[in-house]
Amino acid sequence: MRYHDITKADMLNGDGLRVVLWLSGCSHCCKGCQNPLTWDPEGGLLFDDAAREEIFEQLELSYISGITFSGGDPLHPANLAGVRELVDEIREKYPDKTIWIYTGSMWEDICDYPVIAKADVVVDGEYVEALRDVKLQWKGSSNQRVIDVKKTLASADTAVPVLHCSDYYDAAGCAEQILKPACCGC
Ligand code: SF4
Repeated sequence: MRYHDITKADMLNGDGLRVVLWLSGCSHCCKGCQNPLTWDPEGGLLFDDAAREEIFEQLELSYISGITFSGGDPLHPANLAGVRELVDEIREKYPDKTIWIYTGSMWEDICDYPVIAKADVVVDGEYVEALRDVKLQWKGSSNQRVIDVKKTLASADTAVPVLHCSDYYDAAGCAEQILKPACCGC
């Protein structure tokens, strides 16, 4: 598994302040993607023990709400095993931290992946330039869905996502969040 960056105290990619792992590898090729440099699974840096420790150091901090996996696509075949291993480790070491995953895949196609069951929130779907709206909450285009994984998997029909939040921030939404870039989270 390879990655491009680890950002800290990030407030643009999920609730609270988060550590974000930007993975290499994406085959969705969305028109208007803000980070085409992340598409190559061979690009970026090897995700090694030092990178893992960098993330764990962040998750030790009380003010960090959790981790967000973005990219690229964390569910690209080049990343799936590594993300699953890291998610398992984080769940064990930091059970109170939340895990968000951004993916260009649709919920219906990935909801039975074992790694998904351990996430709190999944933001699904490709970025569609024609549906771009910079006021959307936690997503770049209106086709995407911010999905509450646990509520969805506990529901009668797990193929129908239960949403984590509304599409738009309420009046109290902060300006920084409203300025989220138009992309799948990358
Ligand atoms: S917007 Fe996201 S899913 Fe689409 S090509 Fe870019 S990284 Fe991949």
